[in-house]
Amino acid sequence: MSWQQRIEQAVTERRDAQAFRQRQPLEQGAGRWLLHAGRRYRNFSSNDYLGLSQHPQVIRAWQDGAERYGVGSGGSGHVTGYHLAHERLEEQLADWLGYDRALLFISGFAANQAVIAALAGREDRIVADRLSHASLLEAASQSPAQLRRFQHNDSHHLASLLAASVSGQQLVVTEGVFSMDGDSAPLAKIAAAARTADAWLMVDDAHGIGTTGERGRGSCHQQGVHPELLIVTFGKAFGLSGAAVLCSHAVADYFVQFARHLIYSTAMPPAQAQALQMALAVIQSDDGQQRRETLAQHVADFRLGARGLAYTLTDSASAIQPLIVGDNGQTLRLAERLRERGCWVTAIRPPTVPAGTARLRLALTAAHDAQDIMHLLEVLHGERG
Ligand SMILES: *Cc1c(COP(=O)(O)O)cnc(C)c1O
Repeated sequence: MSWQQRIEQAVTERRDAQAFRQRQPLEQGAGRWLLHAGRRYRNFSSNDYLGLSQHPQVIRAWQDGAERYGVGSGGSGHVTGYHLAHERLEEQLADWLGYDRALLFISGFAANQAVIAALAGREDRIVADRLSHASLLEAASQSPAQLRRFQHNDSHHLASLLAASVSGQQLVVTEGVFSMDGDSAPLAKIAAAARTADAWLMVDDAHGIGTTGERGRGSCHQQGVHPELLIVTFGKAFGLSGAAVLCSHAVADYFVQFARHLIYSTAMPPAQAQALQMALAVIQSDDGQQRRETLAQHVADFRLGARGLAYTLTDSASAIQPLIVGDNGQTLRLAERLRERGCWVTAIRPPTVPAGTARLRLALTAAHDAQDIMHLLEVLHGERG
């Protein structure tokens, strides 16, 4: 088969499975309101859980940074791209989360790829929750290490996989809050299983950081675990983008030598690092605390109001409140009808989620008000007939 034939066949298969993906160019998309083709929608698709993408102080910090440093970093951090603004942010993150060091990456995807690629060798085994994010599973399957997946949130299954003999080292990989289900990992049990097997633990807390734990310190702090590797990302509750790996001095020194996504990639703009410092300050402040409380109230109201709907809720206490519909076509049509009624929601289909579990991935945020949640519920209940 030629390149052209192979490509066309793959796309046709996606279309036939009603799994063809299209991007929507938006006039505005990150806040409470989403503007598309001149129409305004209530936005239930955003990961901006605390509404910080629109926070005046964060916007101001980015503007000030751009005026001071210019808009780009000018190079890899190993050449001239690493500024005092990056160093200060790393120190603040390490201090906040109780680690020796933090290393900034351009995205969570890059951080996960870099960490796994730099660590995993041929003799090693990676044991990952089977619902882990694509960036983790893909990095693990591309690494020379053996990959085993444990049943979602099942620490007994994890322990049994870790007990099999291995000549190298083992790395346990999971998330704090799962991106497509919104449920939390039993981190204390998972950490105990890892410790028993002398394995290291890597937790990707993309959806927990900023929203859970004392003053937003995230899932690990909340559950009293201290993984050897903690990944936090800034594209969700921080309202910006980028990521950090939290680790010991020795591990940070190692990544600075061997993490290719750090070495061969342009550092984030220093103005962004400055805006991230402000987002971190807001997350720790009373303002941030109020935003977490508002979000928790929305989640409670939504779950109460969603009783009696024909769709399955997940076991989620987080901002991510998926409605599992099952069939791809039915999920798409439901998303379409919600849009007609002014609610912007995203249909998530396999392969992003397991076959037969297509869903609306609803995300609630502190930028919503009580009316938004009520409107969403009314529209959903209207769908029953
Ligand atoms: C969003 C997400 C990522 C990717 O982070 P980006 O900064 O968007 O590249 C990684 N892991 C999880 C669990 C995520 O939800």
